[in-house]
Parts: sequence; structure tokens; C-alpha cells
Amino acid sequence: MMKRVVVLGAGGFIGSHLVNRLKSMGHWVRGVDIKPPDFSTSSADDFILGDLRKIEVVEQCIGNDIDEVYQLAADMGGALYLFTGENDADVSHNSALINLHVVKRCVDCKVGKVFFSSSACIYPKYNQLDPDNPVCTEESAYPAQPDSEYGWEKLFSERLYQSFHRNYGLNARIARFHNIYGPEGTWEGGKEKAPAALCRKVARMEPGGAIEVWGDGLQTRSFLYIDDCLDGVLKLMESDCTIPLNIGSEEMISINDFARMIADVSGKDINIKNIPGPVGVRGRCSENSLVREKIGWTPKYTLREGISKTYDWIVSQIEAQVEANSVSG
Ligand code: NAD
Repeated sequence: MMKRVVVLGAGGFIGSHLVNRLKSMGHWVRGVDIKPPDFSTSSADDFILGDLRKIEVVEQCIGNDIDEVYQLAADMGGALYLFTGENDADVSHNSALINLHVVKRCVDCKVGKVFFSSSACIYPKYNQLDPDNPVCTEESAYPAQPDSEYGWEKLFSERLYQSFHRNYGLNARIARFHNIYGPEGTWEGGKEKAPAALCRKVARMEPGGAIEVWGDGLQTRSFLYIDDCLDGVLKLMESDCTIPLNIGSEEMISINDFARMIADVSGKDINIKNIPGPVGVRGRCSENSLVREKIGWTPKYTLREGISKTYDWIVSQIEAQVEANSVSG
């Protein structure tokens, strides 16, 4: 059945991919963002350029005719943006404002279902000190101690959506994303995340050179390919599950080993130079028992398969840049 769907944050990495997927399923889609997608033209039927911190923009985007809202808009970036402390006030204020407006408007317009993108950054720092044994089960979120204001805002907003569910019947679904990556993600400029940054560094490295990796490189993470993320989001939306669920990969890897994997994919030999930098918690990995049980979702791509596709895309971006510079020069 064709639905009328609104994707907030449709100019961003996950949002723009989600619009494509929803369109391929035959839905009518409205995208909303302060900017269009960076690397392609949106396939949305209607794209509103607007600032969701303003209630009038939220009112314009979400009306009584909307069946589903996917809320992905957030003041967001990689470690350099989120974990240095310099952007804490903006990150909390901007994202909270958007969510405060969205929950209220969805209730007023009786929107059928709302998806909220939370994050693994809500998990307590004290459970992520051992890089080999991080604890990220859903119930371990409390007692809360996220290591960033970004994580605190996500936790607050999870609670906001859940309280609107309890008190006003808002039909909300909440996913805690763990490091989503893939083609068409930010890959330079300071807001890029580890997978894209490492691919860029390896791709630009001269033969026999070294790449810089923040921290001692022994910190661990798991990374989820974009297509698997979209499968998880859609399965969650189809389900009746109203508690937050992890949407992530259980394939944990140290950052130095991840850099070596990317080098292997590229066919280059690399030297790694570990340098001081914002690294976040020591270990983090998705724990998928609950999401498997509740909605039957599990990722299909291995990290190597997903990062190969991402690496190829970043190489094509670098080549296009070189070409554009040589034409303009
Ligand atoms: P992204 O930065 O590419 O997309 C977010 C979009 O929100 C951007 O296009 C941005 O312009 C838009 N936005 C920000 N402020 C806005 C405003 N005031 N009005 C309108 N639009 C605004 O990030 P993403 O990686 O696509 O992430 C999507 C969602 O998933 C975010 O909520 C993010 O916190 C969450 N998440 C992502 C990851 C990940 O690894 N990518 C991990 C955990 C959670």
C-alpha cells in the first residue's frame, strides 16, 4: 500500500538513502532538510529546504495527511565535531529543539507511526572501558552515563518519544544506530566519521607512506553498512516493538586493524602512525540478541564487503576532485 511519508534529515547520509529506498517501495515521500543531499539529487517527490528548529517549518512539513515520519535530522558529525566539547551547546540545543517540535506535531496531526534515530552514544562510559568486552545491551543504558552531550541529547529524546507514547499515544519506534557507513557519507571537512576518514587517508597515501590514526588504535568499534541499516529501520517500523533497539553490527574490530583491512582492500602497504585525537570510549560493539528476538533482523554485509564498496566510492570522489581541479587550474 502506498503511504505518504516524511523523512526529516533527508539531505543527510542515512536520510537520503532512506528516501531512495522508500521511493523504490512505491511510497510518496517528502524530504526535509536545511540542505539538499551532498552527492546526489534527492529522489523525494517533494523536498522542503527548511530549518526544523522552527515550529512553522515542522508544521509545514507534517500535516494530517501523513502516515509515517522518519526523524533523522540532528546536529551531527564525527569525533572531531562531537567529542571535543566545542560544539556541545549547539548539538544539544539544535537536536532537542527539532525533537520537541516533531513529537508534538506528530501527535497533533495523528501521524500513524514515527521513527526516531537514537545512537549507541547513549550507552554508559563505565561499560565501555575494556576494548575487548564492551557492554551495549539495550537494558544497560541505565544508570545513564553517556560520554558526550550528543549521547545525553539522544537519551533525553528517546525518553521524550516514549513519554509521548505513554501519555498521548504517539506510535514511536526507536533505533540505536551503531556507526553507519557507506557510499555518499561525508568523507572530508571535519564532520566525517572513522570509516570514511580512514578510506580517504588510505586512498590519498603515497606508496610507502603512513596514515595517521587517532589514539593508540586499540580502541574497538563495530560498523554497519547502510543497506543493512535501512533493512533494520524498515523492519522495526513494520513491527510492534516500542522499546529502543540496537541497529548495529556485532563484528568488532580495533581501529588499527580496521585501517589495515582498508589498506588490504586498496592493495596498498601502509604504516600506521598513532597520534593524539578525540577517540571516545575504549570499546563499543552492538549486541543484537534483543533486536533478533523482537524483529528478526540481522546484518547481511561483512565489514570487508561494506568497506570495499565505500572505499571504491571515496576513490571515485577523489578522482572527480582531481579532475575538477585540473580543469579549473
Ligand atoms: P547527517 O549529518 O548526514 O544527517 C543529518 C541531517 O540533519 C543533515 O543533512 C542536516 O543538514 C540535517 N539537519 C541538521 N539540523 C537541521 C535543522 N535544524 N533543520 C533541518 N535539517 C537539519 O547524519 P546521518 O549519519 O545521516 O545520521 C542520521 C541520524 O542518525 C542522526 O539523527 C544521527 O544522530 C543518527 N545516528 C547516525 C549514526 C551514524 O553512524 N551515521 C550513528 C548513530 C546515530
